Amino acid sequence: MSECIFCKIANGDIPSEILYEDEKVVAFKDINPQAPVHILIIPRKHIPSVSDLEGNDYDVIGHIFKVANKLAEDEGISEEGFRLVVNCKERAGQTVFHIHFHLLGGRDFNWPPG
Ligand code: 5GP
Ligand code: ZN
Repeated sequence: MSECIFCKIANGDIPSEILYEDEKVVAFKDINPQAPVHILIIPRKHIPSVSDLEGNDYDVIGHIFKVANKLAEDEGISEEGFRLVVNCKERAGQTVFHIHFHLLGGRDFNWPPG
């Protein structure tokens, strides 16, 4: 997916503040943070949205939760709590169509979400 901005970040073609990477996933700071901690965690594989997950993709999603826990520890938000969010398609506000998990922390969050 040569036009995908998150594929370009994962490949290093577009610079970003990468906090973690391995053979399956990349985590980097959101360019427009909505909380003191706002990290995006993506699979290297281009999967447009939650609705497109199939087969072994679900293993990567499990791995993303492990990476989220590690990053929450690193950022000091594990004890107090944090929010892990995935927006799926237009109605939920997805704007970048390469699946990503928002790891948000460092402030209080409201429920229900807007
Ligand atoms: P969505 O609305 O699709 O759930 O979230 C997309 C997120 O990607 C937004 O929070 C937005 O700030 C972030 N984003 C968009 N373009 C870039 C970029 O080029 N670099 C980084 N680091 N984040 C981006
Ligand atoms: Zn992509």
